[in-house]
Amino acid sequence: MNYLSTRGGDERLTFSEVVLAGLARDGGLYLPEYYPQCSEFFPQWQNLNYPQLALAVMQLYVGDTISKDQLKILIDKSYASFDSKEVVPATAFAGGEILELYHGPTFAFKDIALQFLGNLFEFLLLESGQQLNIVGATSGDTGSAAIYGVRGKKAINIFMLHPKGKVSPVQEMQMTTVLDENVFNLSLDGTFDDCQNIVKLLFGDLDYRDSHQLGAVNSINWARILAQTVYYFYAGLRFKQKNPQKPLVFAVPTGNFGDVFAGYVAKQMGLPIEKLVIGTNENDIIARVINSGSYQLSDVVETHSPAMDIQISSNFERVLSDVCDRNAACVNTYMDALKQQGEFKLSGDIVDKLQSLFVAYKVTNEETVATMARLNQQQLLVDPHTAVGICAAEKSEFEKVICLSTAHPAKFPEVVKQATGREPTAPEAILQLENLPRKSHDLANDLNAVAEYITQHI
Ligand SMILES: *Cc1c(COP(=O)(O)O)cnc(C)c1O
Repeated sequence: MNYLSTRGGDERLTFSEVVLAGLARDGGLYLPEYYPQCSEFFPQWQNLNYPQLALAVMQLYVGDTISKDQLKILIDKSYASFDSKEVVPATAFAGGEILELYHGPTFAFKDIALQFLGNLFEFLLLESGQQLNIVGATSGDTGSAAIYGVRGKKAINIFMLHPKGKVSPVQEMQMTTVLDENVFNLSLDGTFDDCQNIVKLLFGDLDYRDSHQLGAVNSINWARILAQTVYYFYAGLRFKQKNPQKPLVFAVPTGNFGDVFAGYVAKQMGLPIEKLVIGTNENDIIARVINSGSYQLSDVVETHSPAMDIQISSNFERVLSDVCDRNAACVNTYMDALKQQGEFKLSGDIVDKLQSLFVAYKVTNEETVATMARLNQQQLLVDPHTAVGICAAEKSEFEKVICLSTAHPAKFPEVVKQATGREPTAPEAILQLENLPRKSHDLANDLNAVAEYITQHI
């Protein structure tokens, strides 16, 4: 299997190369040359446990760059850290199923991809004798999941910038209580946007980037998408076994479009998904583009579901490339317009294609809280991100929907309390964080200070 950039060029990369590269040099995202068809395997796949299924799915994309035995070791190690034997257990409820994707070490669905990515990075780096210095900015979930993904790994350091005092207490503790030598928490006197901006400037300085072997773990990495594809098969095949007559529909709380794109990939591989229901919060760029064809940037507003408070939905470019029949000129035209005018308008036939795959709804803060309160009456406690997805499912025409639950409610105790009047019971691992020693470095909100710090510590 080879990979191509959404922006064109004839460069064909292997799986290992795209994992280490992250973003393509031309600014595009990598896609596999084709989606392997796998309907014929479904009778076997529906009986596999989660790591076995992950091996079967991922093998189709890895090619011969990693042996099957080696891939199995990486996958088994990645999911052994989950606190549920099933890895992604499902709970039935009136509206279908709630698929719990938050049983990893940081209690957010990002662990599913980042536990695997950390192990994969370590393996590829040791094999090639390279070193990687991951630099990222976080307002919460991604930072802690990334740190847990690479802590203690050989050949990798991670420098994670966060705005001092502006990350939720649980998430800040999750990051700063990791004492491994390869983990550097940088607490900046500024906002999340300041942190993100410094990271962008570091990556934009190609000399610095190359000489310091900078790498990223954001959701544009193909390996993250691939790892997430697995749970669509896992839950989807089991659902179809139980409900052969019912349409298979997933509801996905969406920010950067990584999670829902993984569902789209599963559909392209033959999983009979009828529709992917997208829920966005008040940062609704994706709901707007699906419903009107207009992709228009606006200011980020703070909501109850902070992991989805984004302005640009990076992975949307991948589906755009597909609905443009992989025509790079078409993708480039749209992306240039976005850069120059802050918006693009899709043609009618492309909007039709998108609407045949996705249905998208914007969910307000009030609706999020009301959904959480309503579910609480059925003895179901969900986090605000999950509630956005469930609310979107309820707005759709579908009766039984598999709703992806992306974070443990105890990660967002304030909103849960506001909505339901009760405190979520935190898992033991969260309760214990309070008593652990912490490690974090205060730095000025300044590019040079961060660049210098990284130089000194790699
Ligand atoms: C990142 C995140 C999302 C959004 O996922 P995308 O892949 O960015 O669309 C939803 N919920 C939680 C809890 C997250 O951390």
